[in-house]
Amino acid sequence: MTDESQKEKLRQHFARRVTNQARIVLDTWQKIRTAPEAGAMFRDDLEAAADKLVRYAARFEMQAYFDAGQKILTTLESWVAGEAPGPAAIEAVGVAVATLEQNTQRRADRRSSEPPRMYRKTPVYIALASVELATRLVRQLEFFGFRAEAFENPQALMEACALHKPETIVMDVQFGDGAGLATVETLQERHDTPVPIIFVSEEDGSIETRLRASRCGGEEFFYPAVDPGQLIEKIETYTHNHAIEPYRVLVLDDSRAQAKFMETVLNKAGMKAHIITDPMQIIVALEDFNPEIIILDMYMPGCTGMEIARVIRQQDRFHSVPIIYLSAEDDVQKQLHAMSLGGDDFLTKPIDPKHLIATIHNRGRRARSLLALMILDSLTGLFNHTHTLYLLEQEILRARQKNQMLCFAMIDVDYFKKVNDTFGHPIGDRILRSLSMFLKQRLRKTDHIGRYGGEEFAVIMPDTRESDARAVLNDIRERFAELTQSAGDREFHVTFSCGVARWQGEPASALCERADQALYRAKNSGRNCVIGAEDPTVA
Ligand code: GH3
Ligand code: MG
Ligand code: MG
Repeated sequence: MTDESQKEKLRQHFARRVTNQARIVLDTWQKIRTAPEAGAMFRDDLEAAADKLVRYAARFEMQAYFDAGQKILTTLESWVAGEAPGPAAIEAVGVAVATLEQNTQRRADRRSSEPPRMYRKTPVYIALASVELATRLVRQLEFFGFRAEAFENPQALMEACALHKPETIVMDVQFGDGAGLATVETLQERHDTPVPIIFVSEEDGSIETRLRASRCGGEEFFYPAVDPGQLIEKIETYTHNHAIEPYRVLVLDDSRAQAKFMETVLNKAGMKAHIITDPMQIIVALEDFNPEIIILDMYMPGCTGMEIARVIRQQDRFHSVPIIYLSAEDDVQKQLHAMSLGGDDFLTKPIDPKHLIATIHNRGRRARSLLALMILDSLTGLFNHTHTLYLLEQEILRARQKNQMLCFAMIDVDYFKKVNDTFGHPIGDRILRSLSMFLKQRLRKTDHIGRYGGEEFAVIMPDTRESDARAVLNDIRERFAELTQSAGDREFHVTFSCGVARWQGEPASALCERADQALYRAKNSGRNCVIGAEDPTVA
């Protein structure tokens, strides 16, 4: 059997699960319809069946079933549990069930015409020997915005994996009465690419066990077992929450045909291309597009690529952006000269697309890791102090140009010194990382988050009203405070205080100052709160 037909068979198999579940829903409804006075008995059955349907449909991207199931669940809200359904509930649920009925009668599997859905976040599966610990971990992961599911036995885990390949599995060697490794070995055989596994082991740290774990896809091996905080950090590294951003490539070539060709090649390779044909547009393009790699044609009317490269290099920000020259030039002397003027690579026309993409990848990867060293904080991966201020200045410029609002917040962990003193510096570090993950998961992509200093963070929120900024930060504050932190077998909670300031046309330094003062007031008014720079002082 070919790969394709095998996949198709699998697909049909899964589609059947959904349609079977839909039938269970319909059958349950049938029972209720025939004897509404006894309906109270079946209300919960119907809810459970519809809920399962929604979950299956989401997994297999069967939109129509998903919608119908959701609709049933919503209408069930008007039907009080333990009571027979009133006429209104019969009517509402009936309409919802009817939509489902139409779907089941349509024989064809509708999934091919349905676009993939955003709600389908790939899950993380938890298989621990202790169900209680697993449940706790799931709850914590959900706090961080992951989709996690815990399993009680290998059978259930295998079934779930067959239905939906997880992003990673946290596997206890002791899972299923010591069947953890065997379960993973069986599981991995079913997938083309192995699922990364995070192994934990309470009792067995022997080399034999570690080897076996590593051979079946074990990326990590924690022995003795660890606390949830450490696990969540690892899980984050194996999930694709922060998918790799496409490279931003600026192309300057006076030949429109050549430029178009490059654009097509770059887009096909999944890169973001910005094309200009007029060298005089370069400054605007640098500003607007903020390229990570620049490709310059050597010969253009009015100026040469080398001259443009020099102008680019004169700007601090673009001092280390890789520049690649393009030309029909095959005179080695001239190429060397061009490189000496600030180019990094030389590609000769006609361009071989493969060569072009490989060159960009190499240059891009290197440029990114250099840039990361320069602008990111090594403990948390957030922007460092200098870059945060730079971003704030940029955002202020933009807010001024576009006449938009802008908010700036400072966050400082409460009594952090005490956390360090009580639980040790490594636990302190972990809390800083956990807060930064928390902020990353909960703020928008367009917000900038920086580590301002030791246990202080800064958040830049472009195009945001002060009331919205405060609401979001306050929500984050509340939820972070609910998070159970652990050190060994001790558990505790950590809070932070936050000061927010709305930009009022002032320079970045003054805005920071106001946010800092608000933070100071937050500390003074008892900590664990969010205070606005313009809030009236409480006497
Ligand atoms: P307050 O509620 O007033 O903010 O009290 P605090 O204890 O948080 O504030 P204080 O400024 O007195 O102490 C901050 C502590 O943060 C002191 C320092 O050791 C610790 N710290 C700073 N950077 C790091 C770090 O990278 N890792 C760890 N573990 N601790 C850090
Ligand atoms: Mg502090
Ligand atoms: Mg501090």
